[in-house]
Amino acid sequence: MGLPRYASGGAAGFLLHYVLRRGVSHSIVAASVLAAVMCAVGSQYAVKHLVDTLSGHPSSVELWGAVGALLGLVAGDNLLWRLAGWASTYAFVAVGGDIRLDLFRHLSGHGTRYFVEQLPGALAGRITAASTAAWTIENALTWTTVPPGLAVVFSICVLGTINWQLTLGLFVIVALIGGIIAKLAAGGRHLHQAFAGYAASVSGDLTDVVSNISLVRAFGAFRREQARLKGKIAAEMEAQRASLRSLERLRLFHALTVFAVTSGVLAWSVHLWRIGEISTGDVVLTTTLGFTVLHASRDLAMALVDLVQQFAKLSEAVQVLGLPHEMHDQPDAKPLVLTGAAIEFRNVSFSYPSGQPVLKDFNLKVLPGQKIGLVGRSGAGKSTILALLQRLYDPSEGAVLIDGQDIRHVTLESLGQSMAMVQQEISLFHRSLLENLRYGRPDASDEDVLRAAEAARCTEFINRLPEGHDTIVGDRGMKLSGGQRQRLAIARAFVRDAPIVLLDEATSALDTESEQSIQEALARLFKGRTVIAIAHRLSTLDSFDRIVVLDRGRIVEDGSPAQLLRRKGVYSRMYSMQINAAVERAVAG
Ligand code: ADP
Repeated sequence: MGLPRYASGGAAGFLLHYVLRRGVSHSIVAASVLAAVMCAVGSQYAVKHLVDTLSGHPSSVELWGAVGALLGLVAGDNLLWRLAGWASTYAFVAVGGDIRLDLFRHLSGHGTRYFVEQLPGALAGRITAASTAAWTIENALTWTTVPPGLAVVFSICVLGTINWQLTLGLFVIVALIGGIIAKLAAGGRHLHQAFAGYAASVSGDLTDVVSNISLVRAFGAFRREQARLKGKIAAEMEAQRASLRSLERLRLFHALTVFAVTSGVLAWSVHLWRIGEISTGDVVLTTTLGFTVLHASRDLAMALVDLVQQFAKLSEAVQVLGLPHEMHDQPDAKPLVLTGAAIEFRNVSFSYPSGQPVLKDFNLKVLPGQKIGLVGRSGAGKSTILALLQRLYDPSEGAVLIDGQDIRHVTLESLGQSMAMVQQEISLFHRSLLENLRYGRPDASDEDVLRAAEAARCTEFINRLPEGHDTIVGDRGMKLSGGQRQRLAIARAFVRDAPIVLLDEATSALDTESEQSIQEALARLFKGRTVIAIAHRLSTLDSFDRIVVLDRGRIVEDGSPAQLLRRKGVYSRMYSMQINAAVERAVAG
């Protein structure tokens, strides 16, 4: 199901898309509300009819006919509202669900750059805010905006049966008031939108601080964070007040004008009765309809301004979440066809959107099943190479190829499925260990998962956990040590069983003993797969086929570990420095 034109369509178009998607149930709601309002206004006409009937000398058929008509309309009025209510329980709830699912789907298609620029908490909050706003708008439209609006129109039409000049005058005045209110409401929209923006930013900031609470504690920064939050909340409060004040101004204008108009209608109809132009029933009708118009348009004004506020919220959320994806499948994208998982960087040049060039005319060929280690100073471009291979960014020139296919022309999904990544920062979901391990391949059998856990030396510590594999690993895996988390990540890559394995400092958090056991496990994981690993601890690369040493985006050395050590170049110097440091540590320890 395609998405509505998020960025350009505006909040109304966005909402309409979802209403139409659930067209039948929404039509039932709309038809019931329309009929209910007709019954309500009609019942006032039936009261006039009854009064006029009583004033004459009615036969019992005429009398009970008038009573029956009134009762029928009152019953219709009540029951039709309930029908609308029932249909709305299906329709409006469905819209809320559809919106959240679609927004999440769209959000997950954004590239890394988007998530670097936005606070994750504020993004999650906006998805909820958008669906809540849609729910509130639908309810407001159905119960408090459209019905009074219809009531005003119908009442004026019924009044037309008594005196057309009166009706025409009212039409003109109501249209004028409506126009002025709409203009004033539109004028306040930027205030409501600004408030929604502040609210989302405060909520994102709160999530950010709460998720980094151990950092705040470690630096004794509670007071600083409180002061910061106070400032942000103060700004949000000011924006909220400005938004509410603009609504109050609108309500005041409306209250004054409607009172004046109703007084005029009443005085005019009493005058018409005095000169004998209309009946007593007509005066009853103009009075009750006059009040209907008064109340209905007051409700309408109140609801309208709330509606404007909700639309502003929806549009703020949709604007941020709905930005077009910076990375998407090409129209002709095909699934990646893997033959041996050969990787090639061909004349690749790349610079980050903000910075200087990282790679220039970069060439690297990795044969199927080859294990290569990327080595070099921090900032040399190692992570960038992995990012380009995962197509988090596209090169500005040249191409990245897997088995001869330019990864720009394959589907992102198939590209993702071709590789397993073990990162330095291990992300774990707040779910059971088993679910976390199975994340790379949801259909993996329990045996496969347990075998992977064993291979990555996880079984021992998992068995020591209170609930074994069913233990919920705390938020972002907080209950586990760094080494344990890394072993889990390696086990997860095992489960994924992808032909390409990428490691980013995968063994950095392991002590020497775990490192030795993990090396064997990694050797098993690597078997038959193409591997690119970034490592600072060079001894972890001893068994690799090839080492590529990078400096400022260029390859300065390339060969097997033994060749590079013999060559006495950069790699061999880095290697001896690390060995010496390790020896010194051992002696000092
Ligand atoms: P390495 O992994 O070798 O430490 P990186 O590939 O992370 O190096 O970085 C290469 C260069 O690109 C560095 O100068 C770094 O500052 C810059 N860089 C890395 N990531 C980004 C980013 N997201 N936006 C802008 N510049 C970046």
